[in-house]
Amino acid sequence: MSDTFDPDALDPKTLDPQTLAVRAGSWRSEMAEHSEAIFLTSSYVFASAAEAAARFSGAEPGHVYSRVSNPGVAMFENRLAAIEGAQRCLATSSGMSAILSAIMGLLSAGDHVVASRSLFGSTMQLLSQILPRFGIQTTFVSATDAAEWQAAVRPETRLLFVESPSNPQIELSDIAALSGMAHQAGAWLMVDNSFCSPALQRPLVLGADLVVYSATKYLDGQGRVLGGAILGGDELLTRIHTFMRSAGPALSPFNAWILLKGLETLDLRMQAHSANALAVAEWLSAQPAVTSVRYPGLASHPQHELALRQQRTGGAMIAFEVRGGREAAWKVVDATRLISITANLGDTRTTITHPATTTHGRITPEQRAAAGVTDGMLRLAIGLESPRDICADLARGLVAC
Ligand SMILES: *Cc1c(COP(=O)(O)O)cnc(C)c1O
Repeated sequence: MSDTFDPDALDPKTLDPQTLAVRAGSWRSEMAEHSEAIFLTSSYVFASAAEAAARFSGAEPGHVYSRVSNPGVAMFENRLAAIEGAQRCLATSSGMSAILSAIMGLLSAGDHVVASRSLFGSTMQLLSQILPRFGIQTTFVSATDAAEWQAAVRPETRLLFVESPSNPQIELSDIAALSGMAHQAGAWLMVDNSFCSPALQRPLVLGADLVVYSATKYLDGQGRVLGGAILGGDELLTRIHTFMRSAGPALSPFNAWILLKGLETLDLRMQAHSANALAVAEWLSAQPAVTSVRYPGLASHPQHELALRQQRTGGAMIAFEVRGGREAAWKVVDATRLISITANLGDTRTTITHPATTTHGRITPEQRAAAGVTDGMLRLAIGLESPRDICADLARGLVAC
């Protein structure tokens, strides 16, 4: 195997993320393939008993078993680490296994977590229902209120965890401020950056210790595979890998190849998603049936200044509210012919969700109100169709409101 991205020949630090996204991490076998190979193998052969022993002990670098490492998975990890500016990346089978592995690798019974109240549903389930059984408690606070975060920190707090922008209200958390608070408390800050991707937001540069991804979303960007990733410094990631090599949340080599190629178009896709979303958000703001629009790229967003400081663009996610509650919101959903009715996001195709009766349907009306989910609220994940066609599809239901 020859390394086609020789760090001695070209210093990655001198290259822009767009260049790293198509070049970094790439290896070439003796076949001299230009596009990267897929290594569909569970195990590896050793030349001798001594080599097997050296590989297993770690005295000699090399792969021993694909639960622990795989050449194709390593290409994806190295490329994403280069784009993110991280010392190290570990790929996982899904976004949830990335979050679980980071927590299981670093925390113990008795440790405490402070997390934003507006989290991905399964993350909320993990923190509020599953981890307490293992002695890890979480206090949930407002995504935007720094005083609430500060008041929740205890001596045993080891981790602050946030998603920004949040789902479905599209609230922003000040990552630099939270990292200062975490470090003051002797805790780590972990950011779920799935909505922005490294193309739009770089939490490690803003002071976070760990970044996690559902690679299922924009890193793939085309709705094909599940995957996840954890990024950060060597020391923390080594501890997390110790958990992973025994626990087994490894990314499939085939999915790693899909994600490796997905990264090559990430920057272009995120720019197009953002431009489309801004156009749709502006159009929605002018519709009489729409009472409010939340999009970080609009000056009307309450945290527009923070968005300008910490994100490159507004991203793909929009929340808006229609006059007439659930009935009017469902009319908009049911009148669509182009937009997909699904709770998923991070696809080339625009999706629409009514959070109050789907993703947030099983919690109490009081909890829904606390999460800011109203009956008239709709969430859009804007895809790569033309904004004119997306707006025309929304207009079908909005005129009926
Ligand atoms: C989808 C998602 C997850 C979970 O990722 P999976 O790949 O589905 O396991 C976690 N966080 C956010 C913000 C997500 O959107």
